[in-house]
Parts: sequence; C-alpha cells; structure tokens
Amino acid sequence: MKKYKQIYFFYFGYGEQDFIPCEYCGNEAVDVHHLDNKGMGGSKSKDYIGNLIGLCRECHNKAHSYVKFNNKLKEIHKSKL
Ligand SMILES: [Zn+2]
Ligand SMILES: [Zn+2]
Repeated sequence: MKKYKQIYFFYFGYGEQDFIPCEYCGNEAVDVHHLDNKGMGGSKSKDYIGNLIGLCRECHNKAHSYVKFNNKLKEIHKSKL
C-alpha cells in the first residue's frame, strides 16, 4: 500500500478489506486523492491527512478536471477531520 494511503486508512481506522466511502458521494472510493498537488519539495510534504481524500473514480476524475469541485472537496474533507 502506498504511504499516503496508509496515512488515510490509519487516520479513519480503515482496514485493507473495509469498504471506503467516497467522501463526496458515498460510492466506493477507489483512490486517495491529493487535494493540493502543487506542494513544493517532493511528494512527502503532500502526504498529510488534511491533504488526502478518498474518492470514487468519477469524483476523482472531476477533482482533476474542475478546480471548483476540488475546492469544494477541500471544504468537505476539512469538516470531517
Ligand atoms: Zn464519488
Ligand atoms: Zn488525484
């Protein structure tokens, strides 16, 4: 498992076999998305829980296509921490 996925799973107490809901729509999350991908100084600095959100395929695609949607996800995610 990728390091950032571990961080996400650990924070929310998920096991590898658990159903992970998409934080936006509740469908099964297949990816952990980096809300802010423009972090400087290597990939490690982006791997903190405030920057990681579980998303289904559809929402993940949207997050990469629409800045406004990604910003909305930031708010949703923040309210869950
Ligand atoms: Zn979704
Ligand atoms: Zn992503």
